Amino acid sequence: MDNTQTGDERSIRSLIPFNHPRRESLLIREKLVKALENNILAPQGLIAHGRGECFDYLLGEKTQEFAEKSINAAAALLLLAKYPVISVNGNMAALTAKDLVDLAEEINCKMEINLFYRDEKRIKAIKEVLEKAGAKEVLGDDDLITIPELFSERRRVSRKGIYIADVILLGLEDGDRTEALVKMDKKVIAIDLNPLSRTSMTASITIVDNITRSIPLLAKRVKELKTKDKREWEKIINNFDNKRNLAEAIKFISQRLENLSADLISRPQ
Ligand code: ATP
Repeated sequence: MDNTQTGDERSIRSLIPFNHPRRESLLIREKLVKALENNILAPQGLIAHGRGECFDYLLGEKTQEFAEKSINAAAALLLLAKYPVISVNGNMAALTAKDLVDLAEEINCKMEINLFYRDEKRIKAIKEVLEKAGAKEVLGDDDLITIPELFSERRRVSRKGIYIADVILLGLEDGDRTEALVKMDKKVIAIDLNPLSRTSMTASITIVDNITRSIPLLAKRVKELKTKDKREWEKIINNFDNKRNLAEAIKFISQRLENLSADLISRPQ
């Protein structure tokens, strides 16, 4: 048995039969429902997850080559950053708390809770989840400042975190805020299963993959790239083109659907 699992996680894992073909996806749903009950997630977080699930289905529920390329570029950018920050919301805390803490430790950066539907009780609940997973310092309930050009509750950010960061890693973000952060001259690394979202199109580096797969892969890549020097990191960034990579993701989905439809027609009755 995995000793890092909480009682909640163990009871969720026993809910779905081991041979169920969609076990992982159903387990994630159960985790999110639990997170909703524990006030970590807003109901809208479930809907956002549904949109992501649909794109993950189209991507074959695997980290594809274009995602590996952007993970490589993201790792290099995080290593080059002067003051990187990981922005955390309810979905991220519910699904990848431990991996986020490991990543923050690997980069030696701060984590900041930032919610679209800001709620002090939810911030406290998310902070507890992150601290239980080993986080030493979590921002988001400290000295906040309002960033311009944004009207949602996400405009309030920490003076010690997102406000002064040069590179921000975020997931399941809305397009307006991504745009506002880019306008503030920040480099944004976005993890988003939908290559067509405004966030995907606006970010400096977009990782079209599930947060549950990409956060641990990103931590692993940061660790590997630490053995190389700054010039190597810069070379990786200079060779990466986010628009081209997004186009590859869109083409992948379209070709996969074409292949699936051709297979269906050629299959004997
Ligand atoms: P935008 O404003 O950028 O166009 P949106 O309105 O579609 O985006 P939101 O609902 O604010 O986006 O955010 C949810 C986004 O996160 C969606 O694009 C969805 O595909 C993506 N998403 C959902 N679950 C995951 C996940 N587990 N991993 C990565 N991305 C996810």
